Amino acid sequence: MEFRECKKIYMDHEFVAKELAQISIKQHAFHFGTSVFDSIAIYGDGDEPNILALDKHVKRINQSARLLGLQTIEERDIQSAIIDFIKINQVVDGYIRIIIYPDKDCLGIDPSNAESKLCVFGWHRVFDNELKKISLSISPWQRPDPMSTLPYAKVSGLYAIDAISIANAKARGFDEALLLNQDGSVCEVSGANIFYISKGKVFTPNIDNTIVGITKEIIKDICQYLGVEVVEKEIILDELILADEVFISGTYHEITQVSQIDGYEIKNVGQSLVKRIYEIYNQMKLSQIDTLSTKWISRINIVCSDNAVPKVADHVEIRFAEEQDKIFVGEALGKMVGELRGGEDNPIIDGWEEAFYEIVSDRKKGFIMVATYGGKIVGFIGASFHVTLHTGGLYASFEELWTNTKYRKKFVGVSLMREAENYIKSLGIKRIDLGAAGYDYYQYEGLYNFYKGMGYIDIGPRFKKILTE
Ligand code: PMP
Repeated sequence: MEFRECKKIYMDHEFVAKELAQISIKQHAFHFGTSVFDSIAIYGDGDEPNILALDKHVKRINQSARLLGLQTIEERDIQSAIIDFIKINQVVDGYIRIIIYPDKDCLGIDPSNAESKLCVFGWHRVFDNELKKISLSISPWQRPDPMSTLPYAKVSGLYAIDAISIANAKARGFDEALLLNQDGSVCEVSGANIFYISKGKVFTPNIDNTIVGITKEIIKDICQYLGVEVVEKEIILDELILADEVFISGTYHEITQVSQIDGYEIKNVGQSLVKRIYEIYNQMKLSQIDTLSTKWISRINIVCSDNAVPKVADHVEIRFAEEQDKIFVGEALGKMVGELRGGEDNPIIDGWEEAFYEIVSDRKKGFIMVATYGGKIVGFIGASFHVTLHTGGLYASFEELWTNTKYRKKFVGVSLMREAENYIKSLGIKRIDLGAAGYDYYQYEGLYNFYKGMGYIDIGPRFKKILTE
């Protein structure tokens, strides 16, 4: 499986470039593990991605928040943040994380009065489309007793036991760790539920010993569809070792077969029921089995044609310019300066290429951000940093801002400026200057009002002198 991070992150009611989505080092959740999270799988089918169990994941994250004593967030707000995330990042096959955390610093442990914040981020993922096999070790650490944890809540801090268990499994040459409880009963795998098959029946630990896995609920439906009985009960290790087949399930792992447990090979002989369940799961996730898919799948349309102009900047992504963007930035710079000079297109600016490389390779001097739409660059902003006495140290200035004419008045410029401002703010810089274009520039008034609308104050004219030899 391959993962590629989505470029936009939903954070605090806004979408920002992934590089700019930052949280304070003093954040409560960072110190005390007080965030709750969930994950959602998206499965590709043309322009209509299939979202697996959207409402269940949204309900579960709020349930986790409630159990932990955090404020919950309106379900419809969580759902629309997820759907917008999928559209803006054009996710067709993906794995999304949603996380709720208290808006509070680390002075004081009680998070209950803090407002809750929501983040949505994720990855495009490429599937191998084959049933994977993994080995499990038995973790030397037990799944914590329900009285000392919140077994129904996905609380980040509680995953420390899973983290150490996996690390231990890997160090001993296994893929994942199996956790037992204090009585020696089988609970779950780090991040997944466990099942075994014996004589055509499927067995899985009862919910006292597991998180209520959503994939597990789907598997129960698939088994019903196949006419296979599922038994939830207390399970001991011997049953797993003697089973015909063993498998795990989870949003991340989907359905994965277990080939051995701490050195014991699992039989896995004959006609594989795991394989049959896996095949049905694969059809269900692409909306191909009506009875199952209508219950578990939501479909949304993310069509965003390459030639169309976006209504708003929803589909525009902002990122830092890289060396390979040089040709576009050069052309855009030429057009921008041409426009300023009254229509003389694409003048060559001596030295711009060296300046471009200098800025993109060293963000201490400044930065360039580009706006892309459907992979195509449609605008850019350039900023530099200066140290002066009258500003009390470092300040930033916007030196260039340009949007392809076809994309004007679509909030592309606004998005570029906001992202650039956020980045500057994240560096602790408190002032930004910019020079409006000349008074005779035909768009001067529009631009002047644009900058004022963005909160910039007119501090008078700016002069220049070209030094000659
Ligand atoms: N158990 C644990 C401990 C988990 O973290 C997960 C993953 N959320 C699961 C089981 C599987 O749950 P789901 O199928 O909802 O992803």
